[in-house]
Amino acid sequence: MRIPMIAGNWKMNTTVSEAIELVNKMRPGLERIEGVEKVICPPFVSLAQIKGLIEGSSIKLGAQNIYFEEKGAYTGEISPLMVADLCQFVIVGHSERRHYFNETEEIIDKKVKAALKIGLKPILCIGETLEENEAGKTEEVLAKQLSSPSARIYYSSGLILAYEPVWAIGTGKAATGKQANDTIGFIRQHISKQYGKGIAQEVRILYGGSVTSGNIAEFISQPEIDGALVGGASLKADEFLGIVRQTSEIKRVR
Ligand code: PEP
Repeated sequence: MRIPMIAGNWKMNTTVSEAIELVNKMRPGLERIEGVEKVICPPFVSLAQIKGLIEGSSIKLGAQNIYFEEKGAYTGEISPLMVADLCQFVIVGHSERRHYFNETEEIIDKKVKAALKIGLKPILCIGETLEENEAGKTEEVLAKQLSSPSARIYYSSGLILAYEPVWAIGTGKAATGKQANDTIGFIRQHISKQYGKGIAQEVRILYGGSVTSGNIAEFISQPEIDGALVGGASLKADEFLGIVRQTSEIKRVR
């Protein structure tokens, strides 16, 4: 039984006061919705204050990134220890980090390891570019992104996967429910072949890429999809609430 999850990635949006305003708008509605793990991932600078605002509620907190070292002379970086003090989750390997900040599989793997070591649950993002998709390389790319030698340990330690086709992120051009379900089905099968059916059936795999309250039902009604990582639509309280509410209703009925 995989608990559905909706995680909001606020990216580099909201000042501290805007973040507080957004949480205050979301909190009353969000905390009443049951059967879905609800995670918000604001910018680092707002985490401490938001932690205070959601204390005692069912809303959980995630960071958008970490560095893999725990402390030292790494000016400007944020360590897993610092994040674990505030959050339960951390997004790792987002395509924007891979693309703009040159994060390689090796760096991403170190970050996943560092997060799990300190008890933070990584939401590991994987996905193919438009070029790779059009060249029929989606499965090859995903298999490579899933090839960490420590993957078995990751899956049994609560790592969450987010399949985010790069061509669908922030473009308004989401995959179809069937496309996303088929690819997530491939990911689960790949894990099953390598580590067994038990582990594959336990791993939560989210879809991400232009999810809104208007299309979430199409994704969440698919059997392989356990939730969504939401970017743009997580910055609007009503939109995010609509996504979480529909997820709760659809997954409860199934
Ligand atoms: C994301 O940032 O992970 C994302 C999926 O963004 P958007 O929903 O805006 O496409």
